[in-house]
Amino acid sequence: QAKAVNRGRFSFFSEEMNSLAQERLALESALRDALRGGSFELHFQPQINLHDHSLHGVEALARWHDPQMGQVSPGRFIPIAEECGLIGELGKWALEEACFQLADWRRRGIQVPSVSVNLSATNFHDLELPQFVTGLLRRYSLAPTDLTLEITETVLMDTNPSTNQTIAAVHALGIPLAMDDFGTGYSSLGYLRKLPVSELKLDQSFVRDMAKDEAVSALTNAVIRIGESLKLTVVAEGVEDADQYRLLISQGCDVAQGYYFSRPMSADQLEHWVREYRSAAPVE
Ligand code: C2E
Ligand code: MG
Ligand code: MG
Ligand code: MG
Repeated sequence: QAKAVNRGRFSFFSEEMNSLAQERLALESALRDALRGGSFELHFQPQINLHDHSLHGVEALARWHDPQMGQVSPGRFIPIAEECGLIGELGKWALEEACFQLADWRRRGIQVPSVSVNLSATNFHDLELPQFVTGLLRRYSLAPTDLTLEITETVLMDTNPSTNQTIAAVHALGIPLAMDDFGTGYSSLGYLRKLPVSELKLDQSFVRDMAKDEAVSALTNAVIRIGESLKLTVVAEGVEDADQYRLLISQGCDVAQGYYFSRPMSADQLEHWVREYRSAAPVE
């Protein structure tokens, strides 16, 4: 009897695992096709300068619409892309697409100061990354400061021997680096000394609770003071309401990004947004 139950269980789990594995495989091959076939798109989210309300820049965020599965979120496809070795390609695609888009806006007089692109630790294993970016800047007639490369702490924890060299080379080209999701990882302070970052992105988990929890607002204030003393631009992520917005201004935060200003938008929508934003009174 026990045997039968166990056997029943075993086959239950194995069927479940089998279907998970199959779903996973299907996602993986769809992802591969999507990267080649152009069903990826970049959306852009405005970043607002809190000192003068001007547009600081936009962050490029990958969007994937699959004909069968519909919209697949980055939370789902980024980990798969990491595991199946496609994340490097995705990062390079995003870099090229961002450069293309910025050049297109510039040509048509749409004033977007810069585009931030998210890169994976894997992109920094590639010693040819600096050369790749240089090629893009030349092809699209852009300056190094037209881009910002967003990295996360995983880049720093990385023991790959190429990483330091690639980071140094990108920095030497004059391309700004931003530390994404700042405050969520380990040893956040030690590496700020060593890394050539010019921007700290205060993680949205702090912003979410800062207006309702004094301990959290003490932390955001501390991060902003660190940024100030190290002369780094502090960008608050995930700003959703007026309370957070006002508190960030009172703490002297430099830049904010979040649904309070706008969700990430297609290139066309961003263009309209920029036109309207520039002609409207500053947000208050
Ligand atoms: P991230 O770089 O920290 O990007 C910010 C995320 O917060 C985005 O999620 C954005 O849509 C979301 N967000 C913006 N404002 C708000 C807000 O007010 N409230 C809330 N709750 N969320 C807000 P998204 O687009 O789903 O991307 C998730 C993550 O996926 C990104 O986090 C980034 O780590 C990764 N990712 C996205 N695109 C790329 C890419 O092209 N390459 C790589 N390597 N990673 C990417
Ligand atoms: Mg980011
Ligand atoms: Mg982030
Ligand atoms: Mg992130």
